[in-house]
Amino acid sequence: MIYHDAIVVGGGLAGLRAAIELNRHNIRTAVISKVHPIRSHSVAAQGGINAPLGNHPRGIHDTWEKHAFDTVKGSDYLADQDAVIRMTREASERIYEMDYWGCPFSRTLEGKIAQRPFGGAGFPRTCYAADKTGHALMHTLYQQIVRFKQASERKEMVVYDEWLVTDLVIEEGICVGIIAFDIIHGKLEAFEAGAVIFATGGAGRIYGKSTNALINTGMGMAVPYWAGIPLKDMEFIQFHPTTLFGKNILITEGCRGEGGFLLNNKGERFLAKYSDSIHAMEVAPRDIISRNSIREIMAGGGFNDSYMHLDLRHLGKEKIEQRLPGIREICRDFAGIDPVTDPIPVQPGQHYTMGGIDCTTECETVVKGFYAAGEAACVSVHGANRLGGNSLLDTVVFGAIAGSNAARYIHNLKHRKCETILKETLKRTEQKLDRVGKSEGTELPVDIKNALNIIMDTKVGIFRDASQLKEALYEVKALQDRYKRIKLHYTGKHTNLSLQWALELRGSLDVAEAIIISALAREESRGSHYRTDFPKRNDNDWLKHTLAYSIPEGVRLDYKPVNIGPFEPRERKY
Ligand SMILES: Cc1cc2nc3c(=O)[nH]c(=O)nc-3n(C[C@H](O)[C@H](O)[C@H](O)COP(=O)(O)OP(=O)(O)OC[C@H]3O[C@@H](n4cnc5c(N)ncnc54)[C@H](O)[C@@H]3O)c2cc1C
Repeated sequence: MIYHDAIVVGGGLAGLRAAIELNRHNIRTAVISKVHPIRSHSVAAQGGINAPLGNHPRGIHDTWEKHAFDTVKGSDYLADQDAVIRMTREASERIYEMDYWGCPFSRTLEGKIAQRPFGGAGFPRTCYAADKTGHALMHTLYQQIVRFKQASERKEMVVYDEWLVTDLVIEEGICVGIIAFDIIHGKLEAFEAGAVIFATGGAGRIYGKSTNALINTGMGMAVPYWAGIPLKDMEFIQFHPTTLFGKNILITEGCRGEGGFLLNNKGERFLAKYSDSIHAMEVAPRDIISRNSIREIMAGGGFNDSYMHLDLRHLGKEKIEQRLPGIREICRDFAGIDPVTDPIPVQPGQHYTMGGIDCTTECETVVKGFYAAGEAACVSVHGANRLGGNSLLDTVVFGAIAGSNAARYIHNLKHRKCETILKETLKRTEQKLDRVGKSEGTELPVDIKNALNIIMDTKVGIFRDASQLKEALYEVKALQDRYKRIKLHYTGKHTNLSLQWALELRGSLDVAEAIIISALAREESRGSHYRTDFPKRNDNDWLKHTLAYSIPEGVRLDYKPVNIGPFEPRERKY
């Protein structure tokens, strides 16, 4: 059996930041990731990371209070305000730390960290490294991990890449370790740990039209869910208004922040027609722009009834090359167009999971010694709608908080004997894998996955109603049933990706079910969750968080109050 003081599951920004914090507190740490850390979805982040630095030469004086208010308003008042305040107060410190570690942020002429406007703020607050911010941040943190791995005065830092975590092991309400599958060698291993942090990212690939990496299957949320930990606010799925038509690759909000226009088929900036985006226009929050884009398409204003134009031509070649080089590359490679001379065809697509593993502002869950951070977690700072640039911030702020709280917990921990439960769980998982691997069914996992994607795209999208959601639930249940009869094409031991994907598919199906049931129950419209049969926000009945528990029959729902602080819920207009 392998032992580490702390195990961080996930090698994205949240996981790496947590691991650094643990190691700084002298904790022997292991990072486990199903891909090499640098291939985590964080590396794809484009537009930037928010902090109230107030560096823009023409920007107004910024404060953490303003950032907190914008975040709470953006969340449609569902965010927990204590958590938002914690994040915005710590934002600047986390950015300067990244700068100090060598993150190549874009600069103002005076040499300060440059900032651009993003949705919901109304002025420049988003720090960026051209349009490859995630790439810059990921390499900065990974270099720190490498430095810690090599520094002899440090406690051990081990990275297991290409290991899939399949089980969380809990004994008497205390987390004692995990079970993980070594993908390359095809073997299962039990890991004992003083504390475990899950930073396993989002579940975007439950949808077909998604900006997310293919690895974002939802399995990282399913593992703690199966172990009895609730998933919070899963009905809130963010749809980004500008994904490349047909491919759904993200076209960053930074394009609009830099001055890009959204146009209908008459060449009009159509957002001016809609009362909730009349002032902020292209930099209104994402939920509002996605809805208004679909409304415009339904009213006949789209191109081929399916997309809008994002026009950057007036920005000029120099600005596009300097600020949005990645977008130019994506347009050339995947659409055969050049944004310097052509408008970009865009449509809304799934982008972010606001919900996730239920945890507190301290990243603690209901299980002692088990913490969550980043997109996999729901602290909640994003509530019903996340502002662009706040997720990268969430990863580094709450990654550090999870790391330091787990370290404190481990320092005070009395060792307990947990070999028996770890061995038993390992054995059960071995039998399960064996059953899946040797299953003689007829159903191909890929068919089930494709069917799931279509259900989620068409029935659990930007606009929802009870009848669509009920159909979606019925169909997902049928897929769960088909899953019991799957068949794998490849049964070998080494690098059996068929087996890995089959295991992950079960996670996708169960997390999808939690999303649908949570959405069906919430009979109001708030943030990204828009019910055409309940089009109004209803604070009297629904200003509360949804908790979804996994039970043998499916899902059990419960609710808990939102932590309201200085910002009283108001109507939301931009
Ligand atoms: C295209 C794109 C652009 C974006 N741009 C921005 C932006 O400009 N600004 C912004 O604020 N936000 C942006 N976001 C959102 C933001 O990038 C993500 O929310 C954030 O990076 C998530 O980081 P994370 O560390 O929580 O998870 P991830 O980076 O997704 O990492 C998850 C990790 O968990 C591991 N993992 C998962 N399950 C398991 C398992 N069962 N076993 C082992 N390992 C597992 C994976 O291997 C991976 O290492 C963007 C998102 C996308 C998709």
